[in-house]
Amino acid sequence: MTPEIRTMEEQVRELQKKIESAKAAELEANDPAKKVADLIHTVTCHSNHVDMCGWEYENSESYKKPGTTRNRYYVRAQKLIVNENVKELIRIITKFHSTR
Ligand SMILES: [Zn+2]
Repeated sequence: MTPEIRTMEEQVRELQKKIESAKAAELEANDPAKKVADLIHTVTCHSNHVDMCGWEYENSESYKKPGTTRNRYYVRAQKLIVNENVKELIRIITKFHSTR
């Protein structure tokens, strides 16, 4: 195999890694459990966001960090999605729309 071919194969492998990384990032960004967690928080949290709820102090990585506020909502959202608890989702969404 020529060095040129070896170089091209290396470039292909690098591109494949970048594609996999970009796909993983896209999946993470579109995680439906995060969106449902946001919705549940918006509808159900009536806490003071200065010192009663940590939501505003956390970031997108907090959803998967046990012990954070976002993680509590994320776990609840995952349970709703995994169990396909449609009635609960409809209740939350209906409540959400009625408060807007
Ligand atoms: Zn809150």
